Amino acid sequence: MPRRLQGLSPSHASGSHGAVFIGRGLFGNPFRPGDPSPTAPGPMSPGEAVDLYAATLRGPVGRRYAETFARLLRGKDLLCPCPLGTPCHGDLLLQLANRSHPCSRSHAQKVSAR
Ligand SMILES: [Zn+2]
Repeated sequence: MPRRLQGLSPSHASGSHGAVFIGRGLFGNPFRPGDPSPTAPGPMSPGEAVDLYAATLRGPVGRRYAETFARLLRGKDLLCPCPLGTPCHGDLLLQLANRSHPCSRSHAQKVSAR
């Protein structure tokens, strides 16, 4: 089962057996803990940043990204600077990439039958 690893940079990722760096860029969470919260006074908590990202990926545009992320990240370990044990969008991406999706069931069965 793929998992989330902690690491600070993409160069760490290349050294950790094909893990994908998700700290920024395409797979980065645009909602950053510490930035002003859009829903409450004060800064966003890590949990809120993940919740907002999750809500975005369920939206009409975000769903397209979610499908692409799932395809690109399936079966891969993810590398993020977040300390393990704190909320991280990487956990969300892991779920997204590795759950069985109704549309890809035949593919998933083929993979698991090997
Ligand atoms: Zn993270």
